[in-house]
Amino acid sequence: MKQSKLFTKTKKEIPADEVSKNAELLIRGGFIHKEMAGVYSYLPLGLRVLKKIENIIREEMNKVGGQEILMSSMQPKENWEKTGRWNDLDVLYKVADSAGREVALGPTHEEIVVPILKNYVNSYKDFPLALYQIQNKFRMELRSKSGILRGREFIMKDMYSFHTSTADFEKFYEQMKEVYKTIFTRVGIGHITYLTFASGGTFAKYSHEFQTITAAGEDTIYVDESSGTALNKEVFNDEVLTQLNLKKEDLVEQRAIEVGNIFDLKSKYSKPFDLSYMDEKGVKHDVLMGCYGIGLGRLMGTVVEALADDKGMIWPHAIAPYSVHLLSLGEDENILKEANKVYESLLKNNIEVLFDDRVGVSPGEKFADADLLGIPLRVVVSKRSLDEKGVEVKKRSEEKGKIVSLNELISLLEPKS
Ligand code: ATP
Ligand code: MG
Repeated sequence: MKQSKLFTKTKKEIPADEVSKNAELLIRGGFIHKEMAGVYSYLPLGLRVLKKIENIIREEMNKVGGQEILMSSMQPKENWEKTGRWNDLDVLYKVADSAGREVALGPTHEEIVVPILKNYVNSYKDFPLALYQIQNKFRMELRSKSGILRGREFIMKDMYSFHTSTADFEKFYEQMKEVYKTIFTRVGIGHITYLTFASGGTFAKYSHEFQTITAAGEDTIYVDESSGTALNKEVFNDEVLTQLNLKKEDLVEQRAIEVGNIFDLKSKYSKPFDLSYMDEKGVKHDVLMGCYGIGLGRLMGTVVEALADDKGMIWPHAIAPYSVHLLSLGEDENILKEANKVYESLLKNNIEVLFDDRVGVSPGEKFADADLLGIPLRVVVSKRSLDEKGVEVKKRSEEKGKIVSLNELISLLEPKS
């Protein structure tokens, strides 16, 4: 992609109404556009990051046998009345049409997925099953000051699993713990993300959050480095510590962002809709469920919060909008010619490259933009690089670059398997 053609432009000014680092940098970089508090649109660079995150999640969900669906955002009021959540869920958006008919805008999808499944399953032979989607959610969040970390409209991957026995559920749940670790590692925050015991007050074995350490976090967790696990402040008491075999003196208090969570639903949602199955003897039972969420925008915002420096974003390679940011410095015809040659060769080698081909933009401005956009590798074609018969390569995360030949650059970028 040629930067001269990119319709978004970077901005120097900090958006006046944003207090969070992720929103400030993502808006200045042209990744997202704010519509109103807690509601953002994704622009080309931001969408590329989001799609990469989405694909990593999709791959991992498919690996555990998840079947992808796409459920409706508009949801029948009756379904919500059946579970008692029409009145009980304070974040629920209720929308009425001109005839006064009310619907819910989906904040989560238990009320939809269970009735869907009821049409297709009735025997123990139909289980286990896991259905998932990647879709927009709506929640009346009153504290939406954290950019894309807490949206009123936001994108979530929600998976729902269905089982005929507790043992089967537990097996799947353990598998999902590992899958989540893999996702956060692939996205580039595995080293600062902890499996965190969570439950609102009473300890439940099957409720976990995945919490990423960053100063901007809304949550407080206590980390046990030696086991790589943590527990949420809400569960922090002597009884829970004993149950988890953790010692108070080993724990370090940290601010963190919840990037995902997994929990046991038991028959909470199967019961109201009578989602049941017949066992081998023809006896009827409630289906057991688990649910597993990840906020995609929140994950993207967390990466910005956790990895950015004072100059801008630093994307891990796996979710970077492009692998290479190619810069041509100076208006000399030879420089532009060489930069175009480098651009073409990178494209030919299937390397994703953003080419800052803009003329009339100073080297200082191009460098500042490259730092802000945070593409992991910067490649510069300049008078100096021409003189030295190569290109200057610098990682976003490092201070100093070096001159390499075009061939070296391409082999540097080839996927290592
Ligand atoms: P929180 O306590 O932060 O409000 P939650 O417990 O309401 O989160 P879930 O309902 O379980 O979260 O949603 C699953 C995942 O969706 C969360 O782990 C988080 O990554 C993401 N998520 C939840 N609410 C939001 C939001 N308002 N904006 C962006 N992502 C969200
Ligand atoms: Mg919430």
